[in-house]
Amino acid sequence: MRIVRVSLPVPLPQLFDYTSEDATEGDVGRCVRVPFGRGEKSGVIVAIADDSAIEAARLKAVRHVQREVAPLPRDWLELVAFVARYYHAPLGEVIALALPPGLRRADAVSDREADPLLDVGDAGRAALAVPRRPSRALALLRDLVALGVVRHSVVRALPSGDALADALRRGWIVPVRRTNPADAAGELPQLTAEQGAAIDAVLAAGPGFVPWLLQGVTGSGKTEVYLRLAARTLEAGRQVLMLVPEIALTPQLEARVAGRFPSATVISLHSGLAPGARSRGFVQALEGRADIVLGTRLAVFAALPRLGLILVDEEHDASYKQQEGVRYSARDVAVWRARQRDVPIVLGSATPSLESWQHVRVGRYRGLRLSVRAVASTLPAVRRIDTRRARLDEGLSPALQAAIGERLERGEQSLVFINRRGYAPVLSCPSCSWVSPCPHCSANLVVHLADRRLRCHHCGCDSAIPRVCPVCGNQDIQPFGRGTQRIEARLVELFPDARVLRVDRDSARTRKQWEAMLATIAAGEADILVGTQMMAKGHDFPRLTLVGVVGADASLHAADFRAPERLFQQLMQVGGRAGRAHLPGEVLIQTEYPEHPLYRCLVRHDFDAFAARALDERRQAGFPPFTHQAMLRADAPALDDAMKFLAHARRLAQDSAPEGLQVFDVVPMRMTRLARRERAQLLVEAGERALLQEFVGRWICVLRAQRLPRDLRWQLDVDPLEV
Ligand code: ADP
Ligand code: ZN
Ligand code: ZN
Repeated sequence: MRIVRVSLPVPLPQLFDYTSEDATEGDVGRCVRVPFGRGEKSGVIVAIADDSAIEAARLKAVRHVQREVAPLPRDWLELVAFVARYYHAPLGEVIALALPPGLRRADAVSDREADPLLDVGDAGRAALAVPRRPSRALALLRDLVALGVVRHSVVRALPSGDALADALRRGWIVPVRRTNPADAAGELPQLTAEQGAAIDAVLAAGPGFVPWLLQGVTGSGKTEVYLRLAARTLEAGRQVLMLVPEIALTPQLEARVAGRFPSATVISLHSGLAPGARSRGFVQALEGRADIVLGTRLAVFAALPRLGLILVDEEHDASYKQQEGVRYSARDVAVWRARQRDVPIVLGSATPSLESWQHVRVGRYRGLRLSVRAVASTLPAVRRIDTRRARLDEGLSPALQAAIGERLERGEQSLVFINRRGYAPVLSCPSCSWVSPCPHCSANLVVHLADRRLRCHHCGCDSAIPRVCPVCGNQDIQPFGRGTQRIEARLVELFPDARVLRVDRDSARTRKQWEAMLATIAAGEADILVGTQMMAKGHDFPRLTLVGVVGADASLHAADFRAPERLFQQLMQVGGRAGRAHLPGEVLIQTEYPEHPLYRCLVRHDFDAFAARALDERRQAGFPPFTHQAMLRADAPALDDAMKFLAHARRLAQDSAPEGLQVFDVVPMRMTRLARRERAQLLVEAGERALLQEFVGRWICVLRAQRLPRDLRWQLDVDPLEV
């Protein structure tokens, strides 16, 4: 009788012991179904032991060990253990996050879910579902062998459906590769000198762990660098993990990677996939059959036995940090993983995070530079339009209107960038100064004129637009301020012959709609685009030559110390959409603060000057990366409950705070109320990460043992992005 130690998806940090008649060391990393409370739960076996701290009579037996799929490897278990430790999250919750839902359940694989078994086919990419019913599986397999898609070296009869995965793993059945996976399709572009130098530097450093920061201006060909490095990794027979901020925004990249490596198995992993597809991709990666795993932050948890290279595109992007549940940073986890697996990692961006940029400065990361564009001869000219001296028409200056008009005459595209969707951010009454509040949040309801609704962008609640002011009865209530819909409406009036296309989360709700829009733009079937930050990332539209920026000033004065960094990144990214091919690009920024240092750096495309200056300010103010932070947040229906709990947590912290740890005051969050819950926060900070981690580890144990008022929730956020 062996003891099976199981991690379960419950909000408790401990492991659970069970007994098993037949478990062996080889079952570590397998999913298992166990009795729990009155029901059952699925978890992962993290260890096999001979004895337990629980007395034998009280131990229950496991119900089912899932042996159809390869076990999760040791290094994967170490990875999730690290994430649990670093972010102070229960291991079971980290595992639940890291594994696709279909693999988390240790049920017998049903016929419907039997798809992960065999994945071969034309070009090695088309996935093929193999039914578990032996007769059907056999017939299918014979066909595949006859077609030359797979070959098998089994002397005895072909394995039945049950044993297919095993047979594949043992190499009895081998997918036939007609070409080398690294063979690129078609002509490759001649590398620029800088691209060549960057690739040589990475290759010269060898296959071991080196963290690289590839800082390359927009359009400088960072992706080409990734692809060349990926090709070398595939040639060496190893796997590539490539992380991108939002896969819904990057179908172009997916197509480009798959097109470059037609005979490699490229799989995508992101939360938008159907559960079956996500499980199948994960298993392909786990069994070493996927060559390239392309995905959003959760792909950092793909098990990759042959991992040889990690690429993180747009490494500064905030969406790498999960903002709920286990608040991990996929970029930071990726760096840890590269070190663990001793492989190189390339973080790429035109506008690196200040953290990564500082790492290069102090020599922790190595820097690579691409300072010129690969195709366009120059970066776009960035100009400021002083809106204090301009007469705006619905937010649009005459200079911007004229520039759009010129593009129309030349048959080129323009983009008006405004990072606010809806028609107007608020509905207001000029006579009593009522503004439309969200009943559930400390936020205003946004006017959506397209479907005549008031909508909260935080909790989603939505109501009809009232005809009169609900307070004073005034009939003349007005949308106040501007969003994408309003700009769109005015552009349609100003340029009646132009095709105006609005691109935001309302117009591109599904991936299908989004892809259709991208196709419309790429085909030149839109003249003027109005878009939010959805338009800022990664796209390449050859006829887009003008970007007008409207309403950016608001972020200059935001209370969050990271707001200027985000604004600079966003403007540099969106500006980078202009003039990517052979046509010169222009960026016009409407501002009331044309002399602001941020805009002055932007005009010169001088990220380094901006970063150096911003880091100086952070050093003086004692902000990250010069300190390390953890944020404890609490929320409850009543603010007082949240504040009281945090005040108690603060006293506990002060009782055990080591020298060098700073415990701040409890404060309501900036947006205090969200979806009917009141929120408060407590920041702790230290100059040394180890000191902070050691303290938080002890603190959180004490916090977990506290009795909580009903309906109070708390979460800890290590390295919070918003403070
Ligand atoms: P980034 O990711 O740095 O913004 P991309 O990798 O998307 O830039 O490259 C921008 C454009 O330049 C793409 O259309 C790409 O195909 C092209 N490109 C990249 N490298 C080269 C090169 N060496 N020669 C010609 N075209 C290139
Ligand atoms: Zn009123
Ligand atoms: Zn709301």
